[in-house]
Amino acid sequence: MTQVHDRPLRDARSGAPVTGGPDPSREEVAAVVAAARDAARTWGRISFADRKSRLLAYKHALVRRQDELADLISSEAGKPAADARVEVLIGITHLDWAATHAQRVLRRRTVGAGLLGANQHATVGYEPYGVVGVIGPWNYPLFTPGGSLWYALAAGNAVVFKPSEYTPGVGALLAEVWASVDPDPRIFQTVTGSGGVGVDLIGAGIDKVAFTGSTPTARKVMAQAAQTLTPVVVECGGKDAMIIAADADLAAAAKAAAFGAFGNSGQTCIGVKRVYVVDTVADEFLALLDDELAGVRAGAGPEANYGPMVMPQAPAGIADQLADAVAHGGAVRHGGRDAFRAPYVDPIVVVDVPEGSTAVTDESFGPLLVVNPVPDVATAVQYANAVRLGLGASVFTASRRVARQVAADLRAGSVMVNAALAFMAVPALPFGGRGDSGFGRIHGADGLREFSVVKSVSRQLVPLPFDVMTLRHDPGTVGLLRTLLRVRHGGRRR
Ligand code: NDP
Repeated sequence: MTQVHDRPLRDARSGAPVTGGPDPSREEVAAVVAAARDAARTWGRISFADRKSRLLAYKHALVRRQDELADLISSEAGKPAADARVEVLIGITHLDWAATHAQRVLRRRTVGAGLLGANQHATVGYEPYGVVGVIGPWNYPLFTPGGSLWYALAAGNAVVFKPSEYTPGVGALLAEVWASVDPDPRIFQTVTGSGGVGVDLIGAGIDKVAFTGSTPTARKVMAQAAQTLTPVVVECGGKDAMIIAADADLAAAAKAAAFGAFGNSGQTCIGVKRVYVVDTVADEFLALLDDELAGVRAGAGPEANYGPMVMPQAPAGIADQLADAVAHGGAVRHGGRDAFRAPYVDPIVVVDVPEGSTAVTDESFGPLLVVNPVPDVATAVQYANAVRLGLGASVFTASRRVARQVAADLRAGSVMVNAALAFMAVPALPFGGRGDSGFGRIHGADGLREFSVVKSVSRQLVPLPFDVMTLRHDPGTVGLLRTLLRVRHGGRRR
């Protein structure tokens, strides 16, 4: 069931209008949530096996419509055809993982009851919240919200999805395909429209909000959710650093930096935004990066390496960061002012940018890469950790010891060694941030648990020989408890 708005929309590449009309009303959004709540009662109670088979039927239907899905991703989010296909493949891989692992992760399990609870059988179970509202961004309109949608569904929740106003068609299609194969279309519904529809969705009494988007919007979402103590999982932007040690495979690092920084026009939350390269190999790395970027251009045609910046005001934000970097003494290595042909922006690389510049401190949601040489890996880690955003990071080194140490020291939700963006293809790895990048986790077992309410159950097997849970204590109880505490937790006398 899809409540689709029909406000004017544009094809991200051609700018051509797609459709037109108003957002759904607050009452319409509330009716969608009420229908989802009704459906959640059944969906949350059927067996894991039944949910799995219905989710896999949905997966097969999405695969049958992969061409339509990829075309919509290309037109609404402005991606080259191959990039859209990669997104569909990875997104569907996550759906499969969530569907097939929910039972193992979420089934009720026995936990040790301990000495004091030796007469109890103790179990932990995971129950669905009910209705999860998923609010998503436009940059990966299938993969990113899928990290919440699939995992929430597999955990037994009904979902109401509010996609970005830039990518409503992808959002609507995901619900339409669900309705085409599942007996209950109310389990997965989409409401499209502007940010106000997100406000109405949270206001309609959903049981959990899964928000992915910018940090400023996350603050508004949390403030609204706080009114009703509605739990939230928040996935925001990043300023990911790539750290390159002197012993790194520099060619591999340059290739990963080029793709990580400029793929999808730099509009990737865990894209590479800053490179800290040990100064003894900085020149060699920059020369290899030059080679990687030779002839790389943004554009609409099949020859383009990546597409447009989707939000009309975004190129100006990148131009401001570039100006700030240069004003603080940064040197343009690649691109510069000539790179701007809005909505297209060719790759821009700036080197030796002071750490206080906004090009270093603020999210750059576009094709701008800062490369700063550093004396050593420890300094690189210090700079990497100095910004408020803490989503992902990567390190290139031949040493497993250095990789382990850097991974341990980085303040980030994910760390990739000798690769960038690699975690996306590993559904078992939980994903999320620290600091201004958000909190909570999607993907993997933790992602399934994120959309579950923990319920503990203890069952008394036999009464204890001495009962302390009573209003009428035996005279010897205090002495017995004293001895018990000393023997169990007192430690050895020195
Ligand atoms: P926004 O924060 O602008 O919007 C995100 C979603 O929130 C959109 O659907 C938007 O609707 C909606 N929204 C806007 N205002 C409100 C409100 N007051 N209440 C509820 N919902 C609201 O982000 P973008 O869409 O521009 O996405 C880009 C951002 O997302 C970047 O910062 C990027 O780093 C981050 N991101 C994070 C990821 C992660 O997993 N950590 C993954 C992908 C992106 P509308 O579009 O209609 O305004």
